[in-house]
Amino acid sequence: MTTTTPAATTVPLADGEYPCPACGVAVRPTGPDHLTTMTILGRDDGQHLQMFTRTDARLPTVTMARCPDCLARHEQAQALLNAHPVVTKRLGSPDVALRRLTGALDGLAVLHASPAEVERLTASDVRLRVLIGALAAPGIASTWASLFAPVMAPGVRPDSAAVQAWSHLSRPDAQVGPSLREGYAQVLRATADATTRLAPPADGSPRGCLVCGLASVSAPVGTQPAHVWALVSADRSALGGRRSPDRLRGYLCPDCADAKEVEGSIGPSAMERSLLAHLDIGRKSLTPTALTGLVGWAAQIEPGEPSDEPWEHVDVEAVRDTLG
Ligand SMILES: [Zn+2]
Ligand SMILES: [Zn+2]
Repeated sequence: MTTTTPAATTVPLADGEYPCPACGVAVRPTGPDHLTTMTILGRDDGQHLQMFTRTDARLPTVTMARCPDCLARHEQAQALLNAHPVVTKRLGSPDVALRRLTGALDGLAVLHASPAEVERLTASDVRLRVLIGALAAPGIASTWASLFAPVMAPGVRPDSAAVQAWSHLSRPDAQVGPSLREGYAQVLRATADATTRLAPPADGSPRGCLVCGLASVSAPVGTQPAHVWALVSADRSALGGRRSPDRLRGYLCPDCADAKEVEGSIGPSAMERSLLAHLDIGRKSLTPTALTGLVGWAAQIEPGEPSDEPWEHVDVEAVRDTLG
């Protein structure tokens, strides 16, 4: 049986090269403004944490240079903070805000988040705060620079770089992966679309609101259809349909159920109230039966498919003209 050594995660730096403080790859900077120097305050030898004395004027330093990808991410963080000044205000200082948001974006890069996903998660003040809260710390802890400053980790060398972007995170003792993934899960929960579309209960009733024909309503995820759809039965004639011995049994959407509650029963007045509310027209100047001939969706001779919008089976523009 042969023993295999784990693949090296670092390479020595060549002359004129610096490691990227984020992903760790060797970089040959094109200008001095790309360089960033960090002071090393102590060293962790794996067993003891030795802090250098602050009175020592010559604390060791390490100089790094952002690679093009990580520089772009850093600049993206700055642009986002410029566009969302409230975020900086909450974090107290521009430097802290930039460091933390850059760290959060670095975390997303480690997790291979797509540009569209990054855009979605940074689209508002609230989303930025959620992102920073959940991913800044594990993102910063993922960076190459965190191996050196403020405290040098065991076994790291300032004259080395990562073999490829973020390869230092595959060190056996690197523990940032789980906390990054936990943070990301937290961000996804906080930014998920918390609502879903609910159709009426599938119990053989008509597949839309009996009155307005709406096919589904928006409700928080996990809501039961029976909690938002109101079960009713009514004579077809009450809904403007032909007289018939069999009653209509089915569901009302929340708006039509409200109209029914206000009017006391399902009938022309409730239908009118629902339609006018949908059209955002006040009812005050109307007689109770101004809209003669209004027929509820389920009372039509052939109702057809329910619709994405209420009252699609009625010529609402004609109604507007009538009331105009
Ligand atoms: Zn980089
Ligand atoms: Zn309805």
